[in-house]
Amino acid sequence: MNKKKVSLPLQIGIALVLGILVGFACGAMGDTGKSFTAAYLKPFGDIFVNLLKFIVVPVVLLSMIDGILSMGDMKKVGSVGIKTVGYFLVTTAIACIIGLVFANIFAGAGFFPDLSQELGAAEYTPKEFKGFMSVLVDIFPSNMWSSFVNANMLQVIVVSLFFGGSIMVAGERGKLCRDIVSSFYAVIEKLMEFVISLSPIGVFTYMAWVTATQGAEILGSLALVIGCAYLGYIVHAVVVYSLSAQVFAGMNPIKFFKSAFAAMMFAFTSTSSAATLPVSKECARELGAKDDIAAFVLPLGSTINMDGTAIYQCVATVFIASCANIHLTIGQMVIVVVTATLASIGTAGVSGAGMIMLAMVLETLGIPVAYIGLIVAVDRIFDMGRTCLNVTGDIACSLCVSKWEGKKVRS
Ligand code: ASP
Repeated sequence: MNKKKVSLPLQIGIALVLGILVGFACGAMGDTGKSFTAAYLKPFGDIFVNLLKFIVVPVVLLSMIDGILSMGDMKKVGSVGIKTVGYFLVTTAIACIIGLVFANIFAGAGFFPDLSQELGAAEYTPKEFKGFMSVLVDIFPSNMWSSFVNANMLQVIVVSLFFGGSIMVAGERGKLCRDIVSSFYAVIEKLMEFVISLSPIGVFTYMAWVTATQGAEILGSLALVIGCAYLGYIVHAVVVYSLSAQVFAGMNPIKFFKSAFAAMMFAFTSTSSAATLPVSKECARELGAKDDIAAFVLPLGSTINMDGTAIYQCVATVFIASCANIHLTIGQMVIVVVTATLASIGTAGVSGAGMIMLAMVLETLGIPVAYIGLIVAVDRIFDMGRTCLNVTGDIACSLCVSKWEGKKVRS
């Protein structure tokens, strides 16, 4: 019999819908159903995410070194690097503005109620923010192995840049290192393919768990602030990424989103840009992004390019300020744009990291940080959308930079 293989994006789509249905059914069964999803479904999602996390450090390290080496000369690395970082900064600043516009419309319309009475604000204890200079110093590792062990991705990127550059400059004498990187990378790619083929299981189990345990909160009083953030995510995706795909890469936006779908869904359920990296690479390849460029842009993007996180931080800041009865001035909004852009760059591509960095934005503005407690319960819902957007932005960038570097992408 001639069995037709169901494509991965379709499998993921089916898993997502089934997960929501099963989640609602379990949620309707009350506490028994909810604990069932937490005790027996979520662990399979956790196993899957652990597998992804376990390959993330070698994927970022090898992929970036391999990308740098395939570019052939440092001039090209510099040119790709500047375009990539330029794209990231501009789109993130636009994301902040979109987030602030929507948040202010919602706040102005009285959609953000004062929730401090009902929810209390005590439960969140923020991490201490050490200041920008110390963040800068921390990017440079004093011990390479500890960067790998702690999966400190900014440090891993610095290590990759130094090694990639040095292997290239070493020329003939660096050939063995070059071959080792390329051989390890070929192996890790195979491993990635296997782990990705398991993604429908991760998507189904996580979706069922989130829907069962947090479905009520979505329908409850926080729905408006969640809705506001999602509106921002959608507008940013539709306007900024559609336009960049169309204008810079000459690609039909529908084709863009169709090909990026698997990574978007995967990010939506895993809430980790770093864990989604292997899937993003497949999608970028399918879209026609140049391999060496995608190998450089995507790992970098999964660590520093977070448009969804920036929108979330702006919306959450205005929301929390409203709850605390603080009205932000235009000058303070500008500070929000700058700090949210920096905070999103500093956000690690892992679940929940954006909320920790939100503390920095609030701190800068003098808004009581403990008020993050108001939205802590539903952070995962925000996180699903923001990670989805973060990853889409990385893929869009790899496509645009490929085009700018002269590759004709398929349209
Ligand atoms: N979870 C997000 C990501 O991995 C980061 C965040 O929490 O905003 O992209």
